[in-house]
Amino acid sequence: MQIKFFDLEKQNRAVKDDILTEMQDVIDSNHFILGPQVSNLEGKVANYCHTNHAVALSSGTDALLVALMALDLKPGDEVITTPFTFFATVGSIVRAGATPVFADIDPVTFNISPEEIARNITDKTKCIMPVHLYGQCADMDAINAIAKEHDLKVIEDAAQAIGAKYDGKPAGSMSDIGCFSFFPTKNLGGFGEGGMAVCDTDELHKKMVMLRNHGSARRYYHEFVGGNFRMHALQAASLRVKLKRLDKYICMRRANATIYNKMLGDVAEVTIPVECENQFHTYNQYVIKIEKRDELKDFLAENGVGSMIYYPVCLHEQSCFEYLGKKRGDFALAESVSNECLALPIYPELTDEEIEYVAEKIIEFCKEN
Ligand SMILES: *Cc1c(COP(=O)(O)O)cnc(C)c1O
Repeated sequence: MQIKFFDLEKQNRAVKDDILTEMQDVIDSNHFILGPQVSNLEGKVANYCHTNHAVALSSGTDALLVALMALDLKPGDEVITTPFTFFATVGSIVRAGATPVFADIDPVTFNISPEEIARNITDKTKCIMPVHLYGQCADMDAINAIAKEHDLKVIEDAAQAIGAKYDGKPAGSMSDIGCFSFFPTKNLGGFGEGGMAVCDTDELHKKMVMLRNHGSARRYYHEFVGGNFRMHALQAASLRVKLKRLDKYICMRRANATIYNKMLGDVAEVTIPVECENQFHTYNQYVIKIEKRDELKDFLAENGVGSMIYYPVCLHEQSCFEYLGKKRGDFALAESVSNECLALPIYPELTDEEIEYVAEKIIEFCKEN
């Protein structure tokens, strides 16, 4: 059997006609940047996330950047985040002119640990930026309690977690601003780059709408410096079609995870992901932990199964962040997970037989090693 780590072919085949119709409308409208299709998508995402506003942006990275820019951070201001995330989380903090401060992760969920956040607060801390890693929310009640106590802003990096819930509350809706990515591998993936920021206050909404358009509300008059962070109408067209199916995709991912959990739950060498009691995990990634991770990855490849490592290098160990003065050993839990984590194929269209094959190969590997 050949099982790719990720494959959009089946999903795209099923929606292609609908998307082509929507795209035809965009072409006929001659409105290629923002416009009615994009506003319509914003309304639908805000509704889906139970927020008052949504701002369509050029990527998930730009959503994080625009959200941070909207907070008016000054040089020296600190933003606390996790060292175990995609680069964009931390890159955006630096691009917004602030200083990232890392807090180690929770060993069970691999999300940022609230206790570690509390330990890293200084009088320069302005914001906490948790990441809802793999599609399961960080511990938002604890994080929001810390933010309230110290009068801090919170931005959710929900790039991997659209549709996830924490105590029934949608990812992205539990903080000042929630940020999503529509990169093709995310649960709601476009036909190219795209992102969205959601918020409740009119003030942040207005600011982000201006930021995506060079800090301007009225053409050629600029109140502050923003950028070109606008979404293409063709992206909105494809996302509008896929958003209707998002809950179904998530449901299929969860069903796939259940099969893995059943088959791998009792394998001593393997730690399966934990869905916490108050959470609804969307399994953008299904990530196991195993000591002989690199060997297992090779063994799976030899048997036709694709897998990925998210993430092989923690952010405090990246050469561009050397100036922060952190070194290997400073975030022991994040580092240990980065050595042992392996993401398995989990995309919605996988068949039960394919999932079972992957799990059987892992069981076989564990018996032989
Ligand atoms: C994908 C991702 C981003 C960036 O999104 P892009 O749309 O690729 O720019 C940011 N943070 C996390 C955690 C992500 O997984």
